[in-house]
Amino acid sequence: MLVRNDAPAENLLIAGARVVDPLEGIDTSVDVRIDNGTIEQIGTALDRNEHRVIDGAGLTLAPGFVDPHVHLRVPGREDEETIASGTAAAASGGYCTILAMPNTEPVLDSAAMLGALIEDAKREAEVSVGFLAAITKGQDGAELTEMAELAEAGAVAFSDDGRPVTSPGLMRRALQYGAVSGLKLALHCEEPTLSGGGHVHEGVVSAELGFGGYPSIAESVMVERDLALAAYERRPLHLLHLSAQESVDALRAALAAGVEATAEVTPHHLCLTDEAVRTLDSNLKMNPPLRSDDDRLALIDALRDGTIGAIATDHAPHARHEKEVPFEAAPFGVTGLETAFSALYTYIVEPGLISLHTILERLSAGPARAYGLDEPRIAVGKRANLVLLDLNATWRVTENGFRSRSSNSWLLGETLRGKVRTTIADGRVAFE
Ligand SMILES: [Zn+2]
Ligand SMILES: [Zn+2]
Repeated sequence: MLVRNDAPAENLLIAGARVVDPLEGIDTSVDVRIDNGTIEQIGTALDRNEHRVIDGAGLTLAPGFVDPHVHLRVPGREDEETIASGTAAAASGGYCTILAMPNTEPVLDSAAMLGALIEDAKREAEVSVGFLAAITKGQDGAELTEMAELAEAGAVAFSDDGRPVTSPGLMRRALQYGAVSGLKLALHCEEPTLSGGGHVHEGVVSAELGFGGYPSIAESVMVERDLALAAYERRPLHLLHLSAQESVDALRAALAAGVEATAEVTPHHLCLTDEAVRTLDSNLKMNPPLRSDDDRLALIDALRDGTIGAIATDHAPHARHEKEVPFEAAPFGVTGLETAFSALYTYIVEPGLISLHTILERLSAGPARAYGLDEPRIAVGKRANLVLLDLNATWRVTENGFRSRSSNSWLLGETLRGKVRTTIADGRVAFE
């Protein structure tokens, strides 16, 4: 289930924007009228009806974004993020819905904990939020959680994100129990005896820097295992943050063979390679690591042709003191909610690698579909989940410009094109 604070829905008229919804086949300048949070009319020169008017002239209106992979850090690390700050960050990034990962302190592995988080979200969440629960108790890979009970309590899916389910037998049982709960498993694919101790992609850069390598095969061997188990059990699964060409090849082959798999890729894996790590900036240390340009191009191809259907930020806030240490000692993870669209627009859309329409679909309907959530659409009768974008804006990413409690962004100091102006989430303005 998705939850949000219960502020009242709004009456809005978004006037004169370029309205783009690739799935509805719309790309034209029209007005959109929202009555009590629901899209009621799309057309030219619509009556204002005493609605609040949002001037869309020169701006682009698209379906709101859905981030299937966010670390809200609650409970346990409220110094790094909270439901309030994380969902405010999401709203400023154009997201109307986010899904939170369960590798918290303690791990979200019980219905009681999930119930408490859902109650908190009803008070604090600026956009719709859903919670994934752990696959194994304490994410220790030994014993499955009470999946049916967690599904009943409102879990959106299951994941041990942050670590893999290493035992193939347990993974198989998780797929079988997942079938009973009706929910999907979302898998962090990493073979720990192959990745162990690695800080960056195993290749020329790791060799030159003298860092322990985290090879592509540490990911792809687990992707292959999990896809093989999913095929055997005839169960769907979702692959988190793919980074390697070999993983994409395995996914493509499994899809061709009829496996029901979905996958996501992060903006940083689409925009950067391990060459960036030469700066030794700890904000470039993430799991899985940045890989080669061949990997990056394979991810771009897979996103373009739909093999990978979703973009996910893997927004991973860290306290400043934790990242301000030598590269090898720093924790994995970077923030991403507030820069995802602008980074993708600057690095991927403007250079012509993927069209704006495709990027918008992969930021919105794609991730919603992966988890069986309602797809944001610009159509009469749909709840208003919308983002208003200024594609001509230029802005600089600065440390104090974030709504997130953390600022460990790989884009600090960079100038980006394209900016989110307004986000409407579940019928209400969540950011402007
Ligand atoms: Zn992960
Ligand atoms: Zn993650």
